[in-house]
Amino acid sequence: MASPAPLARIEALAPYVPGMSIAEIRQKYGLENVIKLASNENPLGASPLAQEKIRRLAASVFRYPQGGNPRLVRTLARHHGTIAEKVVIGNGSDEIIDLLFRMLTESGKHNAVCFEPCFGLYPIQAHISGIETRRVPLEKDFSFNFDALLAKTDENTRLVFVTTPDNPSGYCPPLKEVRQFAATLAEKVPQALLVVDEAYMDFSSSERQYSMLANGIFPENVAFLRTFSKSLGLAGLRLGYGVFPEKLAECFWRIRLPFSVNILVEEAALAALDDSCFREATLKAVREGRQVLKEGLERLGCKVWPSAANFLLFALPQGSISARECFEKLLSQGIIIRTLGSYALPDHLRVSIGNGDENRTFLAAMENILGNGNIL
Ligand SMILES: *Cc1c(COP(=O)(O)O)cnc(C)c1O
Repeated sequence: MASPAPLARIEALAPYVPGMSIAEIRQKYGLENVIKLASNENPLGASPLAQEKIRRLAASVFRYPQGGNPRLVRTLARHHGTIAEKVVIGNGSDEIIDLLFRMLTESGKHNAVCFEPCFGLYPIQAHISGIETRRVPLEKDFSFNFDALLAKTDENTRLVFVTTPDNPSGYCPPLKEVRQFAATLAEKVPQALLVVDEAYMDFSSSERQYSMLANGIFPENVAFLRTFSKSLGLAGLRLGYGVFPEKLAECFWRIRLPFSVNILVEEAALAALDDSCFREATLKAVREGRQVLKEGLERLGCKVWPSAANFLLFALPQGSISARECFEKLLSQGIIIRTLGSYALPDHLRVSIGNGDENRTFLAAMENILGNGNIL
């Protein structure tokens, strides 16, 4: 397959659409109070210990971080019961995904395989790299057909992405299925890497039940991704990490830009990892809030999909307004959630689990918009 020149390719690119920001909506509607339930951020903010660390470090920002951030890498390795040689870190998981394409794929020749819809960054990075993305539709209930995923792979497949729990549905496949898929992929296409993106895994009811990483299962063709952006509350500082096959990790360090993980996030991350109190509070808030929002939306007649993550995918009752209209009405009241046009799910909406007040405000607004408050 001939691949167009990089600039032509980039001109044809539909860029990543992030959730709207609070500042944007404040300005657009002249609102003082805006709540954002659009980007799956931590409902309790950032760990107080991490915040304190950042304040104390403010005077040190004239220094470069230590090359390779060894203290952070060692701590993450210990955290997952593995060796430092398998751990990589980046400026968000986003940077790691980008570097995976650069390490493993050749423009115009190789392909990447993922489900459809999936996290927008995989196909975008594939496109930028001049790589064909092959997509396998999710089942009607958003579960995974691993046989169909395997069937899409061929000898030129270099990357296969599986997100567990999945974004935007919250679906979490059984560990056994992911493990089995990794094994069959290794047999069929030994050169292909299975990327298991576990950005939301700690919100599941049990990591041990769903995560290969949490069980210390590290097949040689699997790379795991995790992030500090969600349960660890550091989205704005940018830190993601991976547990990779050792050889791949070694290559990763050769091509990563030297200081993409900055001095503030390194220390804040270590503090956040230590703050078990904040972590527990976050998981409790998300699990309770998830139930409250699910029940509230269902009482209003919405269809809500089961979610193991810190967000819910839902559809409005049949015959009510469109998802777009609902989104706009919420915006005008200072509540930002996520439309899913960029995920090819224009009839669905995704709401992140907020804190108690945010969840109540959101449900009250939905009740108002759907006009069947008598049901509540
Ligand atoms: C939020 C998210 C990430 C994390 O991205 P960062 O760059 O680490 O903030 C990774 N994968 C998925 C599927 C996500 O939704």
